[in-house]
Amino acid sequence: VRESSVRKTVSLPPGIGKEQFERAINELKSSLGRENVEINDKPLVDGWYMQHPNTHDAYHIADQEDLTSSAAVYPADTAEVQLIVHWANKHKIPVYPISMGRNIGYGGAGCRVRGSVIIDLGRRMNKILNIDADNASCLVQPGVSYFALYEEIQKRKLPLWIDCPDLGGGSVLGNAIDRGVGYTPYGDHFANHCGMELVLPTGELLRTGMGAMPGKDGADNPTWQSFQAAYGPYIDGIFSQSNYGIVTQMGFWLMPETGHQSYMITFKHEEDFEHIVEAIRPLAQKRILGNIPQLRHVIQELAVTGKPRSTWYKGKGKMPREVIREAASKLPCGDVSWVFYGTQYGDQATINSQLKIIQEAFGKIQGSKFMLPNDLPPDHYIHSRAQVCSGVPVLRELDWLNWVPNAAHLFFSPISPTKGKDAKAIHSVITKLHTKWGFDVLPTICIASREGHYISNIVYNRADEDEKRRATGLMREMINESAKLGYGEYRTHLLFADQVAETYSWNNGALRRFNESIKDALDPNSILAPGRNGIWGQRFRGKGWEI
Ligand code: ADP
Repeated sequence: VRESSVRKTVSLPPGIGKEQFERAINELKSSLGRENVEINDKPLVDGWYMQHPNTHDAYHIADQEDLTSSAAVYPADTAEVQLIVHWANKHKIPVYPISMGRNIGYGGAGCRVRGSVIIDLGRRMNKILNIDADNASCLVQPGVSYFALYEEIQKRKLPLWIDCPDLGGGSVLGNAIDRGVGYTPYGDHFANHCGMELVLPTGELLRTGMGAMPGKDGADNPTWQSFQAAYGPYIDGIFSQSNYGIVTQMGFWLMPETGHQSYMITFKHEEDFEHIVEAIRPLAQKRILGNIPQLRHVIQELAVTGKPRSTWYKGKGKMPREVIREAASKLPCGDVSWVFYGTQYGDQATINSQLKIIQEAFGKIQGSKFMLPNDLPPDHYIHSRAQVCSGVPVLRELDWLNWVPNAAHLFFSPISPTKGKDAKAIHSVITKLHTKWGFDVLPTICIASREGHYISNIVYNRADEDEKRRATGLMREMINESAKLGYGEYRTHLLFADQVAETYSWNNGALRRFNESIKDALDPNSILAPGRNGIWGQRFRGKGWEI
């Protein structure tokens, strides 16, 4: 936890003077109530995961002031979101919507254009609007966290699971539109959403999917959470990882509860990485693997104990392999190189037959070892994995933030084909560059089927300017080097959005130009989250904002 010194000035929106800003804010206060508009003039507090700020990126990678807003506003309902959007168009003030702002590692509650007004939807729009137990679906507002949805389902004693990411405090809706992932068979959050309600950048209200058809007597359409695409172009995709609309409601499918069995497989040799990925591919394609499993380097076993890295190594730069080996040999996993976490689902007979196939496949890799949660001590990480993989939100993953003092983290997340050769190529680039910039390599490969999200976690001390500079340098170089080989990120931190967007440059940036055409058509005043995912409206484009 770190507090900045007292702040002297508010970050004003671009092109807006102090008095003009005050007039505009007073207008907003009189429409929404003084208590629902907050100027960002207090010292910035990074807080921690559960008490996170909505004023800036708590995991700052540049200056703490860099991604600060001018104010935050708390709408109570969709009509107030529309009112705020009309206000933003009138004053040409950029607004930046967040659901809960726990998007840590990707920008948190920071806004790309300094001085934007944060629309903090989650504070007051936090209702679970519906849980349809028969349809196994729900409809939520932006402020519903995984914990809240989970607790409501438990309270109602419904036989349903949610799907949560590693940490359970985030917004169900926010994570899905940023295309985050979880670990049950419903782990692709965007793929398991069904229907959206949005406020467009002009203030117009839109429902997607079957929601576009009015229900009987003005009710919500009864199939809104049953069928995704409805009729005509399937437009939901353009509202994910974009700045084309503010999502005020979103439907999700919930998984009917079932039996489950988590397990861990360890692999002895570092160079077996390629073989492990090759063994995963057919199991994933045939859908024998029950969920999105994780393959981690053994250094992660050290990190998830929650002990600081200085427990094992006080030197600078990447932790040497011998030190990791020595430390791992004293942990339950033993002196191994890779650790695979999977979960199987269904009745016991189904699980047993799947486990037999899985054990056979991985058993071909010399020195591999299969373990069940009961084989491991009660405080081992596998027990928290087993919870996440059966839809129980947890906070255990925060433990590795003890790795360095004042820890923050950044994710480098390229997509790898599920082929040993490609995964190795990405892993080599990442390892080489981490060594160069002096960071530990903390990789987790989440394999869906034909691709894996290679999530490399850069953990840095945010009170150390040199570490921040090196983490930034490392990110920039990894993005470039990977792109040269044809590997691109699925998601990135706000500050690297332009660079990542630029790597998707086929045919003279056809995708960028297409995104810009949509942006300009939907948001003529470029007020909504300018720069998010590298998409700039005409007001900002080519005027020095891109970095
Ligand atoms: P979480 O709390 O799950 O981490 P966030 O609220 O931080 O989610 O959302 C992640 C990102 O997605 C935000 O930075 C913002 O750019 C975008 N976003 C979140 N909620 C909305 C929304 N309701 N409408 C439009 N964009 C949103």
